[in-house]
Amino acid sequence: MTTTFKDLGLTPETLKAVEECGYEIPTPIQEKAIPIIQMGRDVVGLAQTGTGKTAGFTLPMIDALSGGRARARMPRSLILEPTRELAAQVAENFDTYGKHHNLSKVLLVGGESMNDQTKELEKGVDVLIATPGRLLDLFERGAILLTDIKILVIDEADRMLDMGFIPDIEKIVSRLPKFRQTLLFSATMPPEIKRLTDKFLSNPKEVSVAPPASPAKTVTQSMVYCHPKKKRETLEKILQMEDVKNAFVFLNRKRDIDGLSDWLKKNDYAAAPLHGDMIQSKRTETLERFRSGDVTILICSDVAARGLDIKGVSHVFNYDIPFNADDYVHRIGRTGRAGQKGRAWNIATDDDKKFIEAIEKLIKGSITVEKLDGEKEQPPKSEERKPANKNAKGKNTKKQMADDDDSDVTGFGDDMPAFFR
Ligand code: AMP
Repeated sequence: MTTTFKDLGLTPETLKAVEECGYEIPTPIQEKAIPIIQMGRDVVGLAQTGTGKTAGFTLPMIDALSGGRARARMPRSLILEPTRELAAQVAENFDTYGKHHNLSKVLLVGGESMNDQTKELEKGVDVLIATPGRLLDLFERGAILLTDIKILVIDEADRMLDMGFIPDIEKIVSRLPKFRQTLLFSATMPPEIKRLTDKFLSNPKEVSVAPPASPAKTVTQSMVYCHPKKKRETLEKILQMEDVKNAFVFLNRKRDIDGLSDWLKKNDYAAAPLHGDMIQSKRTETLERFRSGDVTILICSDVAARGLDIKGVSHVFNYDIPFNADDYVHRIGRTGRAGQKGRAWNIATDDDKKFIEAIEKLIKGSITVEKLDGEKEQPPKSEERKPANKNAKGKNTKKQMADDDDSDVTGFGDDMPAFFR
């Protein structure tokens, strides 16, 4: 029998908020994790973004916190996020799911005024959502006391590891009360994260909903090879050839981003850059403009690859093939979300072969090599590799898109919730 949100024993206020979001049934991670969190147990959740994991921990947290009151500078719960964007997104989720409760939240991220954040902390905070660096800064200035934290969430732990945040996390967690509930979410479980789990979680229950790094099945993936100096022209050709409503264009190096964005703007595309060297207010504004359709092509670094949940993104371009295969999966997962179809294009050069091999090994399939007019085609070598997407054989991509109307819909990787099945 299908589990409903009502079966999960959430408070009427939370149920109402969930209903207003239009969610019909819990996703698998929600179904598994919520009852365990409600029991007060520690949880290790193996789940990627896109699985509904944010509501998986936010909903029971809201209910657990709804009973008490926060004191000045003493937050009652803490959610650690690797990037400012993810922290902001979780804060938005918290507002949405908590709108019928009277709980307070503060978002502590770098790039915003510390004074304003300190003032907010003075008012008392139920949920603190923070990136590790800024939290430590404020803690070390005495602006914040962590002795009342009852629930700790470490989200995207493997991403924290990639970004070098584990020492900060250890510092933070060692300052928290011993008696608390800890929830750790990660898409993968490398040894360093396992060590963190053993050290900071007490008899955790493991819930797992997706094999690590499963690519979204709804994303049709293609590759074009070109000379390294012809990447801009190749990108433009595809932009003209395809029906691009909006797109993320990923680059490997921050320093190349502004140049490509300016070039596209000069060529009349509504492009804008997004990377970690921009001040936070500019990053937030750029994302807002992308969400509203004012900007249609976002030229970005991997800061935008994980977790950003923008509905209806038609295309992802890997202007550079990522060095890390996991990043590939996260990048293409920005399209084909929530049951819609998506399109990913890879602009490759001869030097990318070993990265492509690693990606194809991870996604267990080959990416179709396409030939644009005047471009150099390099067909895949192995006959054994199966296509990464079911319509991988055709050449005419527009036709492929049209022919693919009845294809699988997920956007949730292998962890497709029942409501899309
Ligand atoms: P997350 O993995 O937390 O980033 O969530 C991915 C997306 O799934 C977000 O857009 C949520 O609004 C959406 N979502 C979360 N839970 C549900 C649900 N039970 N039914 C439908 N959509 C959901």
